[in-house]
Amino acid sequence: MTTMTTPKNVVTIIPSPPTHWVGDGFPVSSVFSTRTVENHLSPYILFDYAGPAAFEPSDRPRGVDTHPHRGFETVTIVYQGELEHRDSGGNSGSIGPGDVQWMTAAAGVLHEEKHSAEFTRTGGVLEMAQLWVNLPAKHKMDTPRYQTLTSDLIPTVQLPDGAGRVRAIAGPFGQTEGAAETVTPVILWDGHIRKGARARLPIPDGFSAAVFVRSGSIWVGETHSASTRQLAVLEHDGSDILIDAEQDSEFIVLGGQPIDEPVVAHGPFVMNTQQEIVQALSDVHAGRFGTL
Ligand code: MN
Repeated sequence: MTTMTTPKNVVTIIPSPPTHWVGDGFPVSSVFSTRTVENHLSPYILFDYAGPAAFEPSDRPRGVDTHPHRGFETVTIVYQGELEHRDSGGNSGSIGPGDVQWMTAAAGVLHEEKHSAEFTRTGGVLEMAQLWVNLPAKHKMDTPRYQTLTSDLIPTVQLPDGAGRVRAIAGPFGQTEGAAETVTPVILWDGHIRKGARARLPIPDGFSAAVFVRSGSIWVGETHSASTRQLAVLEHDGSDILIDAEQDSEFIVLGGQPIDEPVVAHGPFVMNTQQEIVQALSDVHAGRFGTL
């Protein structure tokens, strides 16, 4: 008996737009949001990439001051530099290269996101990604949760034939479970592939999928070339993503089981209806998100 699998086809290649500043600490390129891809990459609703950008030493931490979130999760991956986080749930900590912070805002948190004290003092290069993962209606008002996934907690899978490696931040890669606990099935992998190699990345039929090239140049699905800061968006139909590396390349794979619900996004809130957005604003003003 044989199992036939058809790789996912590429729908389009999206270039990253120019950067804009988020707070005074994050020169961000908004790779996609529901404004540009609608719900095609659900459960993902936003992807920002910052840097690499050099910062001079300073005596005042740069970043984003206190702000709320409700209705989804923020996932922050640091590649270079160091960030510090504080939230209204009493969580705080710093994450450095290879570390991931997975914050389930759900019913609501206030938080601030800053360069760490040490990075602020020394200066240096910052490079990071932040992804927003939607929550289904029945979990949008769950209790907030916070997972610090330091790099030692994230399993690394070696690709066959020495093609490279993948870090399973979330979602199973073959037999290897990802590090994050997720509410719905979510895939987030951080990969490296060497020049000339081919990799077949196992993503289930029906899942959304996209490949972002952090550096280098790859062919995706045998049909489309994607190079640094480009995103290959794939069809939901088909299993597996085929990658052929033109150069040594670093990439991020994201996807998951689509959440087939209306998305109403307003600033830091992502809900199902306009009424829930109005309620979120009202709850923030009433102090129901707690204090920092
Ligand atoms: Mn935030």
